[in-house]
Amino acid sequence: AEEGQPLVRRRSVGVLIGAGKGSVQVGGGAPVVVQSMTNTDTADIEATVAQVAALAKAGSELVRITVDRDEAAAAVPHIRDRLRKIGCFAPLVGDFHYIGHKLLADHPACADALDKYRINPGNVGFKDKKDRQFSAIVEMALRHNKAVRIGANWGSLDQELLTSLMDANARAAAPATAGAVMREAMVQSALLSAARAEEIGLPRDRIVLSAKVSNVQHLIAVYRTLARRADYALHLGLTEAGMGSKGVVASSAAMGILLQEGVGDTIRVSLTPEPGGDRTLEVQVAQELLQTMGFRTFVPLVAACPGCGRTTSTVFQELARDIQTYIRDEMPLWRIRYPGVETLNVAVMGCIVNGPGESKHADIGISLPGTGETPSAPVFIDGEKAMTLRGEGIAAEFKTIVEDYIER
Ligand code: SF4
Repeated sequence: AEEGQPLVRRRSVGVLIGAGKGSVQVGGGAPVVVQSMTNTDTADIEATVAQVAALAKAGSELVRITVDRDEAAAAVPHIRDRLRKIGCFAPLVGDFHYIGHKLLADHPACADALDKYRINPGNVGFKDKKDRQFSAIVEMALRHNKAVRIGANWGSLDQELLTSLMDANARAAAPATAGAVMREAMVQSALLSAARAEEIGLPRDRIVLSAKVSNVQHLIAVYRTLARRADYALHLGLTEAGMGSKGVVASSAAMGILLQEGVGDTIRVSLTPEPGGDRTLEVQVAQELLQTMGFRTFVPLVAACPGCGRTTSTVFQELARDIQTYIRDEMPLWRIRYPGVETLNVAVMGCIVNGPGESKHADIGISLPGTGETPSAPVFIDGEKAMTLRGEGIAAEFKTIVEDYIER
């Protein structure tokens, strides 16, 4: 890779999720896909449709929903139909645990409405039952022409596999740490299950793997191993990342390192929402992670200085926040009206120290007055000073200037 560029992507087999409008390719050189998951009761059709639509509008290219019982499975085809009626075509992924084989068999319309099934190899049963139940889900995916994510999880590891690896480790001349054995169990659980799915007949271009852990260092180690041992498309995510800044930092640290190494074909940032908090935040964080690393462009970039003792009024922070929110809200419309606008760079700066310089490097920038400066705000367009704004209406006028610039 060139200096200043992300490293070369790991080669993976591309998996097409969905068919027709809204379908998306994961892996195989496609841009890293952003996905998320609802936290509504899927049996509540109204609430689930609203949340899937909100996540998709925010930029989630795949949306996973919980399918945990008959009522949820029965709701899935209605949810899909309602979403299509309102113009939302994001592929739907069904999250199955324990009884997925039964729900898919009893609800063929659900099996058909979903675009991908998520199976957790750690909770499909034990011994022969495990094989039967796992096989039943894979056969269902084959019958309905769907993709499958085989998602191992640290918190629900295949206990038989883990016990056998622990026993072997205890007999080894130089035993590995318990953490290393658990990591190996995660990797083997995913790979053995994928091999079994292929044996049943599911082609490699319909299999996505994940092995989620809540510890950053374990996650990096697990995915590096998975990436080395096979070429399946990989779903990346730190499970139970946590609330607020902790969740954002942990997810960004873990996934940022792996993405930089070229590992990861789709990402989910799993944030624990504040009560009543906005679920779409996880989509925003995922997009910003990919964008700040230079992998994808979703929204125009707004550069803002951090502020300091020169910015004694709140006008500067408010304007930076207003412009960011305005751009994010308007973006879905702009994308349709003006393809290519996502390359726009906007700078909102707090004073003349770095303001004019930074603003000149942006497509459009404003340098607000700092303490002691004359109360005027020069605006730079395409590197040239275009005008100076004054007075109460600076924020509103600057928004109009941004809009006019995009129009042109
Ligand atoms: Fe402070 Fe001005 Fe630098 Fe912003 S541009 S951080 S206000 S010195």
